[in-house]
Amino acid sequence: MHVSCPYCNAQADFLLYAQDENRHSTSETFTYYRCPSCGLIFLYPLPADLSKYYVGDYHAQPATHSERALHERLEAIKLAYVQRYARGNSLLEIGPSYGAFLRLAVQAGFKATAIELDADCVAALNAAGIPAIQSAEPAQALKALGQYDVIGMWHVIEHLPAAWDVLSEAAQHLASNGVLIVAAPNPQALTFQLFKARWSYLDAPRHVYLLPMRLVERVARQSGLVPIARSANNAEARWHNFAAWRSSLINLIGKKRVQAALSLPQRADQARSRSSRLRARVFRLGLRALTLAAAPLELTGARGSAYTLIFRKPA
Ligand SMILES: [Zn+2]
Repeated sequence: MHVSCPYCNAQADFLLYAQDENRHSTSETFTYYRCPSCGLIFLYPLPADLSKYYVGDYHAQPATHSERALHERLEAIKLAYVQRYARGNSLLEIGPSYGAFLRLAVQAGFKATAIELDADCVAALNAAGIPAIQSAEPAQALKALGQYDVIGMWHVIEHLPAAWDVLSEAAQHLASNGVLIVAAPNPQALTFQLFKARWSYLDAPRHVYLLPMRLVERVARQSGLVPIARSANNAEARWHNFAAWRSSLINLIGKKRVQAALSLPQRADQARSRSSRLRARVFRLGLRALTLAAAPLELTGARGSAYTLIFRKPA
């Protein structure tokens, strides 16, 4: 079967079959292709309705204290990046989920706006005083908005069938000297090479694309932006490396088996035994040891699990 790349139209190669390993929303099998020309990895055919795969607690706030602390660390890392490159304080985030990062950014003095798909998240953001627009088509929603000093898209483009349209529309809505920050799963990741269809950041079928850095840079340049930073081994990438090892191993071993081995309670609010806590700690230490052992490979050659790209609109 001939399958053409949805970005550049070149004939693409079969890459792998995948199931919804992360959330088990369906028993369907999905097929991913890779374009030999632009490097795009894409799901084909695209399901007609992607929304039905965003099941359960997809947008839930972290339940446990340790998970909340872990996520707060990630938001702080993102804010430091924004503060380093921003030349003004108006900020638009596309796909903020429940808005943990935006709340932090507002505390730091940014004037925040959001475009988000999930209705509950939009309501929560508006209630928190952060203007949020509900839309499944951010390129369209952007047209009604003004210009921003910072536009951030953290782990969003891989969900969007019109990813490149959103990037170029975002470029149109940057103020002069404004920055566009794009973070996404890295198709060059060591963990992807190792775990393949069970890689947690493939996240079939919610991730319809894995976009190589050079493709995002190509689209941004064509939209008049200048690449000013790229990294697949910064603090943010290291956070995602750990998450990728953890979740991909769980996918490989099986969630139920891991839960049984660690004697995890069925619900987050149930008490845990001492031995369960101890075993969870051993699991975490083992993961730390694994990521340390992988570091010489993972932190070189752009092989981190996620990348961050920053572009500036010339004055
Ligand atoms: Zn292509």
